[in-house]
Amino acid sequence: MKKKLAVVGYGGMGAGYHVKKALENDLVDLAGIYDVDENKSALARERGIRAYSSLEELNADPSVDIVTVAIPNDVHLPTVLACLNAGKNVICEKPAALSSADFQTTLDCARRNGRQLFVHQNRRWDVDFLAMKGIHDSGEIDEIFNIESRIHGSRGIPSDWRGQKEHGGGMLYDWGVHLIDQMLQIYTQKIKRVYCTFVHTTNLEVDDGFKLRLFFEGGAEGYIEVGTYNFIALPRFYMQGKKGTALIRDWREKTQVTYCKYWHESDVLPVQNGAGLTKTMAPRDSITVDEYEVDRPQSDVYDFYRNAVDVIDGKAERLVRNEEVMRVLRVIEAAFLSVKEGRPVEFVEFE
Ligand code: NAD
Repeated sequence: MKKKLAVVGYGGMGAGYHVKKALENDLVDLAGIYDVDENKSALARERGIRAYSSLEELNADPSVDIVTVAIPNDVHLPTVLACLNAGKNVICEKPAALSSADFQTTLDCARRNGRQLFVHQNRRWDVDFLAMKGIHDSGEIDEIFNIESRIHGSRGIPSDWRGQKEHGGGMLYDWGVHLIDQMLQIYTQKIKRVYCTFVHTTNLEVDDGFKLRLFFEGGAEGYIEVGTYNFIALPRFYMQGKKGTALIRDWREKTQVTYCKYWHESDVLPVQNGAGLTKTMAPRDSITVDEYEVDRPQSDVYDFYRNAVDVIDGKAERLVRNEEVMRVLRVIEAAFLSVKEGRPVEFVEFE
């Protein structure tokens, strides 16, 4: 029998994604929604969706197997705990919690109640990320020593709770949690140090952008940048390996790869570059490099829900492991510390 899903929060993500996907799919049946805002409840009812009048009423409905929590970041913790304590399995929107300690509290609560807690790291299904991970894992351009992952927008931070500290706003929690998660899915090395600076172009209360550098064991580096005041966006992904470079300019585009066939090129001639001559920066030709495009991989983000249902039924291992979610939250904490102290901070991996 299909599982019944209820969604807490009928806003952008609750209505626009979780409810929509549940109605489009034959994987779960929608039991209803709950939102503190009566206007949102009225809208749901107009659309023929049951709107519970309280979280308690939703949790008391024995037909509900899974609750997806899609509300502002600061209220994830009490809501997730209430649902788990009512015996529901929970899918929580990212960030799982505002601290690793709070996330641990929810994990302990899930264990005590014998229920599953999942975190919606849906950007594991982003095609641009999967393309980069594919090139990394294939060894196509040999060992990777630098990855740069950027998201640039030009509309500032949204004027809602995302711009407010008390609600867990800021781009590090918002986009950072996705991009760090992706980076840690590509690199498997231990993290040694974390260095972060915040951008406050349009918002002084929370970061409206940030620049985060991750230093890994063995010397590899990861750079993550989120900007909301970039009227010209830099490329989405840039990755350097010992035998080439991979680039994705825009998330809609294929990956460009330049593979280095021959490193040594003895007869390179100087080229004019600006007001001077250079051999160092002379472009390469097709004798020494191959340039090609890699097709976009296939991806179905609904695998997340499929997997959640299978895990609840004891038929599958989790695709998004909570230890991975915890590690990302610990990187975010290290980043906040780095910003506060204005220096790189050591990162201690959990064994
Ligand atoms: P939103 O402001 O559009 O919607 C939030 C809704 O929650 C509103 O309708 C609000 O009335 C309701 N709400 C607030 N407090 C509540 C409470 N205590 N109980 C019940 N309802 C409550 O926000 P959003 O963009 O939908 O973001 C919600 C969550 O989803 C956030 O955690 C955000 O980080 C996450 N999110 C994830 C993705 C993703 O791709 N995974 C994308 C966007 C947002």
